[in-house]
Amino acid sequence: MQITKTNFIQYLHCPESLWLLKNKEEDYPKGEFSLFLEKLIKEGYEVEEYAKLLFPNGINLPENATPQYTQQQLASDNNVFFQPSFSTQKGVFARIDVLEKLANDTYLIYEIKSASSIKKGKLEDACFQKYVLQERGYTVSKIFIIHLNKDYVKQGEIIPNELLEIADVTEQIDNLYSSVVNDINAASNFINKESINEDECSCRHKTRSNHCDSFKYFNKDVPDFSIYEIARISAKKIEMLVDNNQLGILDIPLDFELSTIQQTQVESVRQELVLINKPAIDKSLSKLKFPLHFVDYETFPTAIPKLDYMGPHNHLVFQVSIHTMQENGDLTHFDWLGTTLEQPIEMLKQMQDFTGLTGTFISWNAPFEISRNKDMLVWIPQFTDYLNYMNTHMFDLMNIFKSDYVDYRFHGSTSIKKVLPVLCPQFSYSDLEVQDGTMALDTWGRMVTDSNFKEDKNTVRQNLLDYCKLDTLAMVKIYERLTNLD
Ligand code: SF4
Repeated sequence: MQITKTNFIQYLHCPESLWLLKNKEEDYPKGEFSLFLEKLIKEGYEVEEYAKLLFPNGINLPENATPQYTQQQLASDNNVFFQPSFSTQKGVFARIDVLEKLANDTYLIYEIKSASSIKKGKLEDACFQKYVLQERGYTVSKIFIIHLNKDYVKQGEIIPNELLEIADVTEQIDNLYSSVVNDINAASNFINKESINEDECSCRHKTRSNHCDSFKYFNKDVPDFSIYEIARISAKKIEMLVDNNQLGILDIPLDFELSTIQQTQVESVRQELVLINKPAIDKSLSKLKFPLHFVDYETFPTAIPKLDYMGPHNHLVFQVSIHTMQENGDLTHFDWLGTTLEQPIEMLKQMQDFTGLTGTFISWNAPFEISRNKDMLVWIPQFTDYLNYMNTHMFDLMNIFKSDYVDYRFHGSTSIKKVLPVLCPQFSYSDLEVQDGTMALDTWGRMVTDSNFKEDKNTVRQNLLDYCKLDTLAMVKIYERLTNLD
């Protein structure tokens, strides 16, 4: 069975999930992150296009060119090749981003990454490329990583050699080489196994943040309301419980040590009760000053900055929804959705006219909105007073659900998409065309950047407006519920 660089990295992260992909693709979950991954892949291609500009004499080998075709090309007079491919006799396959042939018949490998730094100890993929070349009998004299320069700020045309940095990682790869070769052999043996234990996987002993979408497949005996849902539970405690085969919250012994917040959650499940600290909630909400502006941004992050003054991976705010509530309960709504890639100057102008520098802004997971405002302070300084006002008068409604309002039906989550249907069952995201933030940014990004966008733009715009509007209406409804607790 063939093993590619992507397969190998997946193996290092989790052998079981790679085995499932290779041996039972029909059971391998596509997963909610696939849109996000597609976006990452597209961005990777875009970074590659800029990196290629650093090699004006490079020649593109056709997409899907075979190792045989590569061999013929290497014998030509050219010395820089984009996307040459190589395969070992055991089926280990590498497609190199940029390969440079030197006069002494040795080779330089350049791997391109859309990250803005090289993560320590994360060079196994480049090492994999070297292994395949060496196995094919080529001598690799140096290896470089080309990555985005985190300090780059776009001003006019993008300048490739300022946007990108080239780091020599030859020595680090040499230090890793023998252990990576062992891992490649182990990966190859593992995926060729006829069977593995499919009744559990190693994440059974780890916290939820480590789990991938295959967790359910490999751990079918884990019940609803499992120990993995307990907020901020440590890996050590998960291990202790799993070792005693206590996988459900209901299995946890009464004397098992948990923090107060965790204990509240466990009690909520045990008694099927909603545990509410009303005095604490009343105290938090009493500090809010009317009018209340329930606000939500949608953003489009890009690896390559699209607008002047932006840097790699910055977020462009392309949409806002605000529901404003007066003290008497009157509600008004404002929204804005960008039509092109542009700084949201008009959005801020209209927002400021709508809300003024008044009252309290309320969002769900406020650090996100606060960070976007901090970015816009730099890019659109004419709104400094307004953006500063928002940030200093921002309240995070989500925090209430961390400890003061615990309902077993949230399954240990504080996501608005889990909280809303429990508190206000008549409101739901399930009927909407746009289901989450990733889908929103993907849809908007394709609409404004893809000249082949085929969908009806008016319908798509309405779908995006409906989604963002529900996010802020959901906060209004949750707020109303919290102010009317028995
Ligand atoms: S849940 Fe963890 S161990 Fe299980 S398949 Fe996914 S990543 Fe691998």
